[in-house]
Amino acid sequence: MTLRQELSFGGRRLLRDNWLCERLVAQLRRHETLGAEEIDSLQRIALRRTLLAARGRLRYCRHVPARFPAERSPEVLREHFPVICKETLLENPREHYPGSGRPKPWQGTGKTSGTTGTPLRVIRGPRSVLMEEAFLRRHWKWGGFRDGMRRATLRGDLVVPPERMRPPFWIFNRYNNQLLLSSRHLRDGCVDAIIDELESFAPRMLQAYPSAACALGQLLAQRGRRLEIPVVFTASEPLYAHQRQLIEERVGARVMDMYGMAERVAFATECELGSLHVNPDYSYVELVDDDGNSARGEGYVVGTTFHNLAMPLVRYRLTDRTRWIPGACRCGRPFPMIEPVTGKWEDAITGSGGAFVSPSVLTFAFKGLHNIRKSQVAQVGPARWEVRVVPAPGFSSEDRRRVVHNIHALVDPGVRVDLVLKDEIACTAAGKFRWVVNEWRAARAA
Ligand SMILES: [Zn+2]
Repeated sequence: MTLRQELSFGGRRLLRDNWLCERLVAQLRRHETLGAEEIDSLQRIALRRTLLAARGRLRYCRHVPARFPAERSPEVLREHFPVICKETLLENPREHYPGSGRPKPWQGTGKTSGTTGTPLRVIRGPRSVLMEEAFLRRHWKWGGFRDGMRRATLRGDLVVPPERMRPPFWIFNRYNNQLLLSSRHLRDGCVDAIIDELESFAPRMLQAYPSAACALGQLLAQRGRRLEIPVVFTASEPLYAHQRQLIEERVGARVMDMYGMAERVAFATECELGSLHVNPDYSYVELVDDDGNSARGEGYVVGTTFHNLAMPLVRYRLTDRTRWIPGACRCGRPFPMIEPVTGKWEDAITGSGGAFVSPSVLTFAFKGLHNIRKSQVAQVGPARWEVRVVPAPGFSSEDRRRVVHNIHALVDPGVRVDLVLKDEIACTAAGKFRWVVNEWRAARAA
């Protein structure tokens, strides 16, 4: 490690992985055993604290009542706070950012990139940074991972220079017993060294972008090899069914997905039984329809922070959509369940009849096709898709025919499909990969 990395990892360890964080995790774990009424009352108290902080810090909240009992906080939220979104913050920063709009010396800034390329800044207090770590660690405990165990990380970090051709394609962070691997070196010529290193390090868990873990899975499959990492925690990108299957077959025993975002207004974690639980002690989550009313079925995720009072985002609408799953999970946690958030709404594509096509359905068209290294489905016009394929060595005209045939037979017979071979498919600015993209909608919006 370079001196800069030493300082950065050592500093992180001091700031985030301290006894305070451990205490917070223990406190959060107790919430898993509460009753529904206790969770409800905990939420109302936290919500009241946020709404009063918003009133004190943000100009657009000045009209909000200064006094109200905690029991009434959900009603106050709906009566006095409009649903806002990224554009609201960008268009009217004076009303929506605290003070001068700049972070204080002890505060940090979170940035989102998004697919539209419009970056957003969110000011974060130190407590928010610590709480984020505690929520993450609680999820890790669901997967049997405890502090100090060996972990490997395969995300977007620039671990070593991308042009490096000889190992190591990783660095070891001794402060956290963590092996950080370069996802940019998941390719022939480099990946064998990465697989060997992972095998000998034998981590108890892997933290990964779904696309990176899936690419590793494909390379393992091509080599007839298999890793046995007990749990793979995926986050930051939608996780598709075909990716999960491949990761479980080749990389790890179990995939546990997590849903969160830089704005930190919602956090959902997959339990041992495969349910995705909204963490009700993290934020106040609503699902709303296009008019901002409570959604009956599928709706946009709208969240209100509980832990970032430095810049309290209230009723902040994301572009993700999901629906509530009624009932209780057999894992016993009193946390509500949602359907997997499979993709960004802005990336949803439509078929020949104008109806939305589920990415999970699209995956069927690619089942059993082994000569494809990477693919992407982009909507480029009305009922017109471009399927981009990075071919593996054995890719033939028969494979090409099968992709197009499968889409027509299994997904949509009326859509026009152009298959384009590529050397590489670009990621977003943040190094994330989107399997389904809607470039037509983006072009019309620009
Ligand atoms: Zn559960």
